[in-house]
Amino acid sequence: MCKFHYLCNGNSQLITHNSQPMSVIDSITTGNGTAFSFEVLPPLKGTGINSLFRTIDELREFNPRYINITTHRSEYVYQESPEGVFHKVSLRRRPGTVAVAAAIKNRYDIPVVPHILCSGFTREETEYVLLDLQFLGITDLLLLRGDKAKHESLFTPTGNGYSHAIELQAQVNRFNEGYFIDGSPIKEPGQPFTYGVACYPEKHEESPNMDMDLYWLREKVKAGAQYAVTQLFYDNDRYFRFVERARAEGITIPIIPGIKPLKTARQLSIIPKTFKVDIPQALATEVLRCKSDDEVRQVGIEWCTAQCRELIAHGVPSIHFYAMAATDSVKQVAKAIY
Ligand code: FAD
Repeated sequence: MCKFHYLCNGNSQLITHNSQPMSVIDSITTGNGTAFSFEVLPPLKGTGINSLFRTIDELREFNPRYINITTHRSEYVYQESPEGVFHKVSLRRRPGTVAVAAAIKNRYDIPVVPHILCSGFTREETEYVLLDLQFLGITDLLLLRGDKAKHESLFTPTGNGYSHAIELQAQVNRFNEGYFIDGSPIKEPGQPFTYGVACYPEKHEESPNMDMDLYWLREKVKAGAQYAVTQLFYDNDRYFRFVERARAEGITIPIIPGIKPLKTARQLSIIPKTFKVDIPQALATEVLRCKSDDEVRQVGIEWCTAQCRELIAHGVPSIHFYAMAATDSVKQVAKAIY
């Protein structure tokens, strides 16, 4: 029996006997049924990790195959000195992705997937993050360009950092081959990293058209992405059409739907603005009929449950939930579908 059997529970097929967790790609392609996974944010600086643990405690009964941890670049903010002078300072409101990933892995023995960004990071900083993660035995990553800084209208790389996720993939690939960015060999290469990337059923906002966006997705696959996770969406048809077009372009990797239940009436305008996605008219109409956000929350759960049932009926290997500020709704949806 696995010496970690007491930790494995229903998840035992995912943990090998030396407790090395399965990679994301293996767990979604070889596990039974539609995999459940979710994403958490590192806590705001200074707020402790307990509320994040409570989120995981709420959702672990659904046997998450893995948990993603987002990364947030630093922002420039103006702070007032006692003399009333404003100083521009660089601030990371949510540091700690690597430490949070390690804390979750240690506490729950659930595989973790930290997000690695171009945005806000130099190549050297990325290299140090890769070294830290390898020491921690965390080798599943999601490689992303990352959001632009709030003060920027267009994405700008930091220092000698990268403009696109595919360049970050090249650095990770080179690291896997046993080389640092300066070309020197890694004396004792560790376990290689595997990774997924992002994709956009309603197109990335900067892409001139869907064909171009799919072209770059295919390049990311050729460069080594094993799966792609979608931006959130509320209209399954958009997802189905996107997968169909991707397949027609020869993109064969799993395309994991990313889902977030709607919770408040304000999100009708915030979500399209933030994530560049449409809210279907039928959902918008239901939300506008609601007299309170409690009613909106219920509508969001029902819409999301119906979305997930249809996705499962279409045989998606996995559903990834954006759980931020929606743990209770995600729990209701998971109860209904798993
Ligand atoms: P890229 O792959 O670089 O694509 C960006 C745009 O450039 C697209 O229009 C693409 O078509 C185009 N493109 C790609 N490669 C090239 C190239 N070589 N030359 C020219 N054009 C190219 N943001 C965060 O800050 N932190 C997070 O933790 C985070 N997690 C996310 C998780 C998921 C599942 C998703 C879907 C998004 C996440 N984001 C996160 C947001 C994401 O970083 C942004 O959407 C970002 O603007 C694009 O990231 P990307 O990795 O898709 O970039």
